[in-house]
Amino acid sequence: MNKKPIRRISKSQYLKGLQCPLALWYYRHRPDLRPEISKIQQALFDGGHEVGVLAQQYFDRGVEITEPYYQINQAIKSTQKAVAGGESAVFEATACSADGAYSRIDILKRVGPFDVWDLVEVKMSTQVKDYHIDDMALQRYAFYGAGYDIRRSILMHLNNQYVRMGDLNLKELFTLENCTAAVGNRMAEVKGNVAELIYMLNQADEPAIEPGDQCYTPFECDYTGHCIAQGPEFPVQNIFRPGWRLDALLADNIFDVRDIPLGFDATERQRIAIEACRNDQVYTNRSLIDDWLVGLEYPLYFLDYETINPAIPLFDNSRPFQQIPFQFSMHIQKSRGGALGHASFLHTDKGDPRPDFIKYLTGHCGTTGSVIVYNQAFENRINNELGTAFPEYKDALDNISNRMMDLLVPFQSRFIYHPQMNGSASLKSVLPAFVSDVGYDDLAIGEGDTASLMYLQCIKDAVSEQEKEKIYKDLIAYCGMDTLAEVKLLDVLYRSA
Ligand code: SF4
Repeated sequence: MNKKPIRRISKSQYLKGLQCPLALWYYRHRPDLRPEISKIQQALFDGGHEVGVLAQQYFDRGVEITEPYYQINQAIKSTQKAVAGGESAVFEATACSADGAYSRIDILKRVGPFDVWDLVEVKMSTQVKDYHIDDMALQRYAFYGAGYDIRRSILMHLNNQYVRMGDLNLKELFTLENCTAAVGNRMAEVKGNVAELIYMLNQADEPAIEPGDQCYTPFECDYTGHCIAQGPEFPVQNIFRPGWRLDALLADNIFDVRDIPLGFDATERQRIAIEACRNDQVYTNRSLIDDWLVGLEYPLYFLDYETINPAIPLFDNSRPFQQIPFQFSMHIQKSRGGALGHASFLHTDKGDPRPDFIKYLTGHCGTTGSVIVYNQAFENRINNELGTAFPEYKDALDNISNRMMDLLVPFQSRFIYHPQMNGSASLKSVLPAFVSDVGYDDLAIGEGDTASLMYLQCIKDAVSEQEKEKIYKDLIAYCGMDTLAEVKLLDVLYRSA
């Protein structure tokens, strides 16, 4: 326990405390429990910083407060000096209310020549979310409490309708939304929340709070590994969404699917999962699997895409967060049980990967035969967007989309269910449940977000040439495993039918 009394909390601590006071208590008093920042989290922070830098360029003039986040008093003084000096915009301005709420604001924007200000908060998002309002309410409270005359609270986010053509057009890339009314409605709660959280932080004992919905909303809490580490093997939350059924089970202290009483009111999908767990055996509906398999037409093309979705569009003819495919793997089988062929593409040059991606894809995918994907909505959407950006290939891409068969369906719809799927139909859950001779465990890249992050590091020259070679090999192995997994899971269906 920190011996010095705690008199201040930052905006991020306030938001953490709103989600769960215990998480804030751990943050201040138990640094040993804090997990290391993952590469994915770091990439998100870096992306947010990149957006923040661009947002500053949106404004004609301004001065930045450069003190690090822990030099609060100095940052407050530097902000006051910039304001007194007549600056029209102060970036990373800092203020603290008398009762200890302190905050930085991305842009403190002067209204005309007056000593009146707009608070502009920048988010790497394409819309205003509810938790942004709490964020802005604390900022408004801190600046107002420090004596600033605040006119509006504005959220500056990315415009997902903006299509890049040439240099970035910042006036079109960003949207400024006036959130003053929504923030105003939230202000009445801030004073009490700040007082309660500071009081709670000054208690020697952690607050008594049980895990619940707050552990994952609006973000997964950093301390789930600590609070929920000793969970059951088959958590009921994996089968039941939040609602009265889940509430009833938890109220009866039923945490494991196998302990659900016979006759408990459940949907058909839930019942299948419960019985598979209880009997410890695979559930199979042969007739539904047969019906699905009848739709297959050889040759089969097992296909998977890897994509990046940069917040700031990197290429012409693309929008913020648009999925840009840079890699595919394709296993090809001409007849049932026949030899497997393989084709793959990975764009390693600088520039837009899409034109070459489309050429290789349409050149290898034939014009007849089923195209097997896992989660058709994703590959379908990519094909539609590629067809819009490169209309000369629209017909060929539509042909591929029209031949798609979604291998997710039999597993998600529970035509077949293995207890080890634990309520999930994702490829990474289903494959190890049914197949033991191949898997992702030995691969350097084991899921899509890491693949995307690694590729971005290559094209941004954030890694050496030697590291790039290694990453490219790892990407090829990873994407190849995705389509091999599809081959193996189709075999599971055939053997079950
Ligand atoms: S895991 Fe849940 S209960 Fe534990 S600190 Fe986080 S939000 Fe609170």
